[in-house]
Amino acid sequence: MKRVSALLLTLALISVSLLAQAPQKETVLIKAGRLVDVRNGRVLTDQAILIEGDRIKEVGPAQAVSSHAPASARVIDLSNSTVLPGLIDCHTHLTFDPNHTGYAGLSISIPREALYGAKNAKVTLEAGFTTVRNVGAGGYSDVALRDAIEAGDVPGPRIDAAGPGIGVTGGHFDNSLLAPEFHFSRESIADGLPAVMAKVREEVKYGADVIKISATGGVLSKGDSPEATQFSDEEIRAIVIEAHRLGRKVAAHAHGAAGIKQAVLAGVDSIEHGSFIDDEAIRLMKEKGTYLVPTVYLMDWFVENYQRMRVPEFMVEKAKIVMPAARQNIARAFKAGVKVAFGTDAAVYPHGLNAREFAVMVKLGLTPMQSIQAATVNAADLLGWSDRIGSIEAGRFADIIAVSGDPLTDVSVLEHVAFVMKGGQVIVKH
Ligand SMILES: [Zn+2]
Repeated sequence: MKRVSALLLTLALISVSLLAQAPQKETVLIKAGRLVDVRNGRVLTDQAILIEGDRIKEVGPAQAVSSHAPASARVIDLSNSTVLPGLIDCHTHLTFDPNHTGYAGLSISIPREALYGAKNAKVTLEAGFTTVRNVGAGGYSDVALRDAIEAGDVPGPRIDAAGPGIGVTGGHFDNSLLAPEFHFSRESIADGLPAVMAKVREEVKYGADVIKISATGGVLSKGDSPEATQFSDEEIRAIVIEAHRLGRKVAAHAHGAAGIKQAVLAGVDSIEHGSFIDDEAIRLMKEKGTYLVPTVYLMDWFVENYQRMRVPEFMVEKAKIVMPAARQNIARAFKAGVKVAFGTDAAVYPHGLNAREFAVMVKLGLTPMQSIQAATVNAADLLGWSDRIGSIEAGRFADIIAVSGDPLTDVSVLEHVAFVMKGGQVIVKH
């Protein structure tokens, strides 16, 4: 009997000490003067958000939510600010840098690329982007960066990583800057049905969350035309079927109208850039529910800086045609009501300036609320992460930002975030 009670006592002591050691989930109460309800497209006043650990537990009128908060809750007072969900950029290249455009990029190793990624991940997060879709990186450096951020080794946004983008020999994702005797071809180049199918499987094997393809030529590449298609219809269809079979979405870089239509008909999930989108492509995208990820701010920065960046002349020539046309055509697509998700192509310009995209989207016809929805609910939907991010709702990650001023009257206030929280952790507080 004595031994039994001694045993019970020991067990009780062990469980008490285990309880004491269990990490306490911190509770935080954010008071939000104005809160952007992105799902319903409205602004609510005098709200509060209750956060437990890395998740939102409750959101609603300040008085009601505050009454549910434990006395130990840490209070963050944003009652003079506008509070929004953490922003999502669906088109970044965290491991690339504007100074590596053209020949300069040939000297950057993959390990060095990954370290640029660590630097750029931090500035992107501090700019209020708590999630990015990284659509193209060398040597799976974006997958490594994603994992390092997840492990808490380096600060950065959540990353939906594409690994190296799949393209054709001599296409936008190949690198044609070196002379033939160097026999250089990028790791993700594939021609023909078995090759493209194997490439999708290989991408997934090495950790890609999403498949990026190049459906047309590009601007910052040699010897390809942004207006011409690259894959055959059969190749692009095989890629989409394999990707979807493996539970991965497909993002298609496409400037020319023919390539946009080919990719949309093959079933890709988003068209990146969409520079020469025409009425038929707009109609097809609306019919299929394909997202457009326009990247329209970059022109402003490029025009001002390409000389300093020593961009090769043939790239500048293409940019002068593609970039202004893109603004006109994207404005037509906005007016027609295609689904839009926010993307920047940051890396063409310095990371951290991502929010400059908002003002251009508004200039081209979206309302400020629509541009904010593109970077929150819509972007989360495109990533397939609506249950985790993109809105301030119970159960989502506590990814929250705040700005002083009203982004619904002047969307450019998003370029200067005063507060950033990712998964309940305060990253920025001015
Ligand atoms: Zn890009």
